[in-house]
Amino acid sequence: MLDESTLQELLDLNEENGVLSVYLNTEPSQGNADAYKLRLRHMLEQVNLPKDKEAVEAYFNTEYDWSGKSVAIFSCSKQNVFRSYPLSIPIRNAVHAGDRAGVRPLAHLLDNFGGYAVILIDKQGARYFYFHLGKLEEQDGYFGEVVKRTKSGGASSLTGRRGGVSQTKHSDEVVDRNMRDAVDGAVAFFETYHVRRILIGATEENAANFLHLLPKSWRSLVMGTFAIQMTAKAEEVRSKAIEIGLQSERKQEEHLIQQLLTKAAKAEDAVVGLENTLEAVSQHKVQLLVMADGYQQTGYQCKECRALTAQTSMTCASCGGDMETIPDITEIVVNQVMRYGGDVEVILDQQKLEDVGYIGAELRYS
Ligand SMILES: [Zn+2]
Repeated sequence: MLDESTLQELLDLNEENGVLSVYLNTEPSQGNADAYKLRLRHMLEQVNLPKDKEAVEAYFNTEYDWSGKSVAIFSCSKQNVFRSYPLSIPIRNAVHAGDRAGVRPLAHLLDNFGGYAVILIDKQGARYFYFHLGKLEEQDGYFGEVVKRTKSGGASSLTGRRGGVSQTKHSDEVVDRNMRDAVDGAVAFFETYHVRRILIGATEENAANFLHLLPKSWRSLVMGTFAIQMTAKAEEVRSKAIEIGLQSERKQEEHLIQQLLTKAAKAEDAVVGLENTLEAVSQHKVQLLVMADGYQQTGYQCKECRALTAQTSMTCASCGGDMETIPDITEIVVNQVMRYGGDVEVILDQQKLEDVGYIGAELRYS
């Protein structure tokens, strides 16, 4: 299973100009194998690691079953390392060649979609689900003593309708005992799977009772509660978990952009806008590049010193060398940032980033 230790292993991989990382989106509803293989070939065009390219292409030709939504691959033929991870969640296409594996997208996935427990709970029992990276890994359940129903047919009447006081009291005790047992079961489940996030599917009342009994350390991992039928299919539970994962990803992006804008406004080791960013990239100062998804722009690069600019010019401002036109300068930007040890964050649909020119960067030093 792809987890933190996998990530650690990939982070330790080190081979001078010898590690190829590929993220390929293969969402079955958006294209077929041939289309995705063609895209892959385009993505690998600039990469000068023939053995690793061959290994990646062979994997897609012979091994991958195309049922997943995306794949992450890491190849270092010089060390006989080849790792492929089919994923149940879509991911943006990316290729990274260098001394080290490009693990940022993977780190993000683990962060947003790793180690989810979803607990469905009612007055009688509970169902426990464990999802990891969008995939159902385990499920379990607890079914307690049947709560006696009143003649009016309502569930476990606690307000003493028909049935009299003693039965109500009994129902009350059963509900309470069931809830305690369900919480104990949940805690054991959380411990077994080392969960990092917890979602609760229940009525408000049941969720509140569950939370009240849940030990504090686990309560802090609860991300939210939602309404769902106790009999819901695992797929419905899964899509709820993914939806909340996406919301959390979006929150993280908002936070990142806010931080970037604040720093840039104070001229504190951050810049926004294409020209400022290109200057920082040319000087190898970028720690973290932040760019809107799909952003493209024509630009110019000096043939001598490789300086970048978005302003039409025939000669380089820094060395006087000849400039060449680059149809999409963002490709070079991403490549340069990664080559000099920086990270790249591609942001989906954030107005604040678009307002400042779709691109910005946090810098290593001033
Ligand atoms: Zn130059």
